[in-house]
Amino acid sequence: MKYCSTCGATVSHRVPEGDRLARFVCDQCGEIHYINPKLVVGTIPVWQERILLCRRAIEPQLGFWTLPAGFMEMAESTAEAARRETREEACAHVRLVGLFSMVNIPHISQVHLFYRAEMDDASFAPGDETLETRLFALEEIPWDELAFRSVSLTLRLFLEDRERSHYGFHEATLAPK
Ligand SMILES: [Zn+2]
Repeated sequence: MKYCSTCGATVSHRVPEGDRLARFVCDQCGEIHYINPKLVVGTIPVWQERILLCRRAIEPQLGFWTLPAGFMEMAESTAEAARRETREEACAHVRLVGLFSMVNIPHISQVHLFYRAEMDDASFAPGDETLETRLFALEEIPWDELAFRSVSLTLRLFLEDRERSHYGFHEATLAPK
């Protein structure tokens, strides 16, 4: 950040009085601009024992497969974000079954949430940010072509839970590679 979004003056990166971390502080109006972690929310859409994956049409990880997910918007709930991203990226309508995984990624200041979801019907298609959408049987999941570690982890946990016919909630933290 270079300029204050309130008054347009320059900002300094310093520890405000009474704080313990450096923040962007406006040199003119004194506004403290806090930057906080971002939530990425998505679903594990299931149709008749198969999982819907999307092949990314955008960077990062263009061409790799992912679960439908994206940054939460202002003024929406995590459930709304999960359903919206599934509609936007895979043109699929889902019913959320429950929160399945929460993956902390502190080194990039993100938290990724994935809901288990049941597709309303077998209709799906690539959205603007997707090259291809496809249902994968569990033994067909393209492990070597998955876009993100949070997605690989979530799918691995999903398969493990399915093996024992009990789906739990999983919290994890990813370290830098
Ligand atoms: Zn200002």
